[in-house]
Amino acid sequence: MNGHRARLFTIKNMDCTDCALKIEKAVSKLPGVKLAEVSFVTSKLKVVSETPQLNDQAIIKTIKDLGYSAQTEESFKTITFHIEGMDCPDESEIIKRR
Ligand SMILES: [Zn+2]
Repeated sequence: MNGHRARLFTIKNMDCTDCALKIEKAVSKLPGVKLAEVSFVTSKLKVVSETPQLNDQAIIKTIKDLGYSAQTEESFKTITFHIEGMDCPDESEIIKRR
């Protein structure tokens, strides 16, 4: 399946909005990256990539090279999956009662 994948990272060591912009610019230059958005307030980096193959490690390395550290958060898809999963126990209860 073709499509975009959104990923979330937590950035550490940012001390001003310029840092956020620096990271944004560097990450958006990576091949396959469609959008890179850094929020200095929440210390989060959102990356939307065209290729699902784009390695999280490549993004983390780019950030490290700039002197910051980054941690992967769960991808948006995974978060969606967890939210959907919350409906499941009720559903399986209903199925069991039949
Ligand atoms: Zn700074």
